[in-house]
Amino acid sequence: MSAAVERLLRGGPAAVERLVDEHRERALPVVSKTGVDDFREAWRALADLGVLRSPLDGARDDAHPGADGGTVGPVTRSLAAIEGIGLAGADPGLCYGLTSQLVGMQYPLRATLSSLPGRTSAGVADGQVLLCHALTERGGGSDPFSMRTTARRDGDGYVLDGAKTFVTAAPVADLAVVFARTGAGRSPFALSAFLVPVPSPGVTRGESFDKSALPTVPMGELLFDQARLPASALIGEEGSGLAVMASTTAWERALIMGYALGPMRLLLRRTLEWANQREHFERRMGASHQVAARVSDMAMALHRSRTQLYAMAAALDAGTPARQLAAEASLTKISVSEDYVRMTEHATALSGVRAFLPDSPLPADLHSPMAALTYAGPNDLLRVGVARQFGLPVEN
Ligand SMILES: Cc1cc2nc3c(=O)[nH]c(=O)nc-3n(C[C@H](O)[C@H](O)[C@H](O)COP(=O)(O)OP(=O)(O)OC[C@H]3O[C@@H](n4cnc5c(N)ncnc54)[C@H](O)[C@@H]3O)c2cc1C
Repeated sequence: MSAAVERLLRGGPAAVERLVDEHRERALPVVSKTGVDDFREAWRALADLGVLRSPLDGARDDAHPGADGGTVGPVTRSLAAIEGIGLAGADPGLCYGLTSQLVGMQYPLRATLSSLPGRTSAGVADGQVLLCHALTERGGGSDPFSMRTTARRDGDGYVLDGAKTFVTAAPVADLAVVFARTGAGRSPFALSAFLVPVPSPGVTRGESFDKSALPTVPMGELLFDQARLPASALIGEEGSGLAVMASTTAWERALIMGYALGPMRLLLRRTLEWANQREHFERRMGASHQVAARVSDMAMALHRSRTQLYAMAAALDAGTPARQLAAEASLTKISVSEDYVRMTEHATALSGVRAFLPDSPLPADLHSPMAALTYAGPNDLLRVGVARQFGLPVEN
């Protein structure tokens, strides 16, 4: 890629770009040695780069002064690390899994996780202990009040019954954040969140699902059959499940698509090289205005996505509570996921038949970008939520 294109894409402060480069350099040898046949081993290899440590470290890093003379905060550092690892060519499923744990659980629940016994809390940060976020059930994902999993008070603890399905990392996770009903109806205080060891008495792994999107990160089901939980398993207060969920989902929507920045940049680079080198109609393919416009649209999608994601990271670093950023987080998730799909469409069109040959140098992954329209809140429903925040009288 030419220096001019690299400059265009490097819209961020110099300190952030330096961090992305550093992480890419450090990840390159790990990525080239790491397959994904053993998911946990691959996870630990990438965690060894320190990417999961930032939420616990918390402190701002004076080694990376920003353009304004300030410093780069931990959330921005995490996003730069994820982008760098993706740019090094790490498997997108692995990148997605790391990002999901980091931004969907470790940051929003850092108070809870850091109060766990030292070995567990350190294990999360160094990749020995895997987390999962268990919300969806077979009967529905979008409507949390449709959940049937219950946590019944029993002495000073709870008894958990039910099942959570389509949960990323459930087949390999050690600790699950589980949402369950502790009250009746659609009251905002009807749900509670628990931290549940997997497996443990009454907690088993159910079915695992092969999926066409992000196939390397495992997905599965967790089953709860009269599982006794101590009161200390409760996250926050009884009845605060919806508030916990509002925080985990706002963080996730703000930053989950950070996992795609590396793959998006690689896709643009690959498409540019192809358009420059492929001969068509006695000239290079990139000499066609229509081809050039597609490449420009790809660059615009990437530029927009980077700008939005780093703006969310900066707002969180500035201490803005995630719940206050709920609308921007939803808009960022909608925008970046749809830009990723659009970029993939352009790259696929320009690759011709090669896009559909897995062993060609230009294979298309259509499913993984499309899946982003569904996880972390389907975009259709996020749009409804944003419009509601603008005051429209619209319900899901
Ligand atoms: C790759 C991947 C990873 C995932 N990881 C996890 C995880 O770690 N933990 C977890 O708990 N879940 C996870 N999920 C599940 C995900 O959260 C759910 O798929 C999501 O919440 C949507 O639920 P659903 O699939 O039941 O779709 P539905 O709720 O059935 O919705 C499907 C579609 O129906 C339409 N629709 C439905 N109702 C409305 C409405 N009122 N207004 C407008 N449109 C509507 C929308 O187009 C929506 O996209 C994951 C999913 C994927 C694809």
